[in-house]
Amino acid sequence: MNSLSVTNEQFSDILNLYYGSYFPLKHFNDEKNFKNILLKKKVNNKFFPLPIFFGINKKKYFKIKNKKIIKLFFENKYIAAIKIKNFFNIKKKIFGRKLFGLNYKKHPYYLKFSKENYIFLDFEYIKINKKNLRHKYFVPPSIFKKKLKKVSTLAGFHTRNVPHTAHQWVHKFMIKKYSKILIQPLIGQYKKGEYLDSTIIKANLLAIQMYDKKALYVPYFSYPRYGGPLESALHALVRKNYGCTHFWVGRDHAGYKKYFSKYSSQSFCFKNQNKLGIKIIVQKEPYYCHGCKKIVNKKCLKNLCKRSLKIVISGTKVRNYLRKNKDIPEIIMNKKISKILNKNSIINSLKK
Ligand SMILES: [Zn+2]
Repeated sequence: MNSLSVTNEQFSDILNLYYGSYFPLKHFNDEKNFKNILLKKKVNNKFFPLPIFFGINKKKYFKIKNKKIIKLFFENKYIAAIKIKNFFNIKKKIFGRKLFGLNYKKHPYYLKFSKENYIFLDFEYIKINKKNLRHKYFVPPSIFKKKLKKVSTLAGFHTRNVPHTAHQWVHKFMIKKYSKILIQPLIGQYKKGEYLDSTIIKANLLAIQMYDKKALYVPYFSYPRYGGPLESALHALVRKNYGCTHFWVGRDHAGYKKYFSKYSSQSFCFKNQNKLGIKIIVQKEPYYCHGCKKIVNKKCLKNLCKRSLKIVISGTKVRNYLRKNKDIPEIIMNKKISKILNKNSIINSLKK
C-alpha cells in the first residue's frame, strides 16, 4: 500500500481532532468547511474560528495523486489507513488576509503555510491504529477531565513562554478568584528564537510547585500559528474542552510583532464568549512599578507613581537577557525559574 508520512504539526492536529480537543470540529476541513470557517467562522452552524486542514507539499502530492487508499505514518509508525475523497485548493491570499490582516505576506506562519500546502486533502479514516495514536506530550481531554470532578471553577492559562513575574501575577490573580487554575503550555514550537519545549515544560512545572496544589498542568500539544484573535478563540475552545470554565486572554495573545493591536485578541474572545461557551477573563496587562515596588495592573494608587517608574515585563526582554548571557533581574523572573535558563534554552539561538 502507498504511504504518506505526516509532520509533527499534522500529527498534533490528528490527535486533537480525534480526541476532541477541537470539538465541535471532529475532522480535518473539507473544502466547504474550510471556506465556511474562513468566511463565516462556522462549521455545521457552530462557531469555529480557525481552519484545521490537512495539506501536503508538491512532492507528496505527486506521489499519491492517483491513489485512493493510503497509510499514514508518523516517525515511521503506522497510525492510520485513509481513503482519499478529494484534493482541493484554497486561495492562500484569503487565508492570509483573514488570519493576519493586510500585511500577511511576511508573516512567519503564512510563509510556512504557503510552503507546506501545495494542495489540501479531504479524506476519511478506514482504520486507525490506536496503539500509535499517542504522544508523550498529548493527554486526551477525557482523560484529563477525570481528575476534575470536584473542581467547580477552573481558569485556563495558555502560554508558550517561561513564566516571568507578570505571568505569575496573573496565576496568583486567578488562584484568588477561581477554585483552581490550569496552566497549559503550548508544546510544539518550531520557530527560531522561541523556547525549547523541554524548557517551557520544566519552567512551568516549577511555577506550579509554588501554588500549593492550586494549579494543575497539562500540555496543549499543538503549534503556534501566531494568528492573534482567531487563534486565541481556538485556544479558548481547547480549554473549554479540557474542562475550564474561564480562560485568560492576555495582551497580544497569539500575536506576532505588530500584526495585531494590543487588546484585539482579548476583545474578540470576550465578544464571542457565549458562542465559545467559556468565560473570558479580561484584565489589563500587569507591569512592574518601581514606585510601588511590585507588579500591578491598574493605575497606581491615586496616580502617585510616574509613568517612568513603570516597566513592561515581556518574554522578549527575558530572551534578550539570555542571548547576552546576562542574569535576569528578580523583578522580571523568579530566581528558581531563571536558574534553569541559559542561551541554549532557545531554539537555534547560536545560529542567529
Ligand atoms: Zn506604582
